[in-house]
Amino acid sequence: MKIFCVGRNYSEHAKELGNTIPENPVIFCKPDTALLRNGDPFYLPDFSKDVHHEIELVIRIHKTGKKIQEQFAANYFNEIGLGIDFTARDIQSQLKVKGLPWELAKGFDGSAPLGNFVPYTAKGINFSLKKNDLLVQVGNSKDMIFSFEQIVSFVSQYFTLKVGDLIYTGTPAGVGKVAIGDKLQGYLEQELMLSCEVK
Ligand code: ZN
Repeated sequence: MKIFCVGRNYSEHAKELGNTIPENPVIFCKPDTALLRNGDPFYLPDFSKDVHHEIELVIRIHKTGKKIQEQFAANYFNEIGLGIDFTARDIQSQLKVKGLPWELAKGFDGSAPLGNFVPYTAKGINFSLKKNDLLVQVGNSKDMIFSFEQIVSFVSQYFTLKVGDLIYTGTPAGVGKVAIGDKLQGYLEQELMLSCEVK
């Protein structure tokens, strides 16, 4: 099982980190040891002093495919859920300056909490993240720079997609630091889909 993530897929978030709008999707991977399921707690890693939450819509691949054309891409995923792309922002900033890959900042153990899935039906899905009952991130899939179909098509030009592969599709604005004791709750429309406590 592979976990793909898209960086800079919402223009307001790209701006808040001082990044330009990309021409192609920015893709990186996390290993399967990054996954946190069933509401398991997230343990803050000791190598970072600035771990950020990034709430993201996640689609699950349910059909093997490679070099998928955009107009057929919707046939390759049928479920949607929420995940958090925990990011050690201090490490990522150092890596960016040196032009190095981001894995140490984004692929560490527990960096990918994943909630429940529901069938994918509509376009324009609202999602949000509450930290300690305060709304901190709000997004809608219609504001993505690259659509689910464009992402699936793009990724499949390079990597064969297999059943169960996950794609974290980018975060809207409002990312911020987490601390021990924080309770994170992700909502798809009004439905609680993901809970994660920081320890
Ligand atoms: Zn992200």
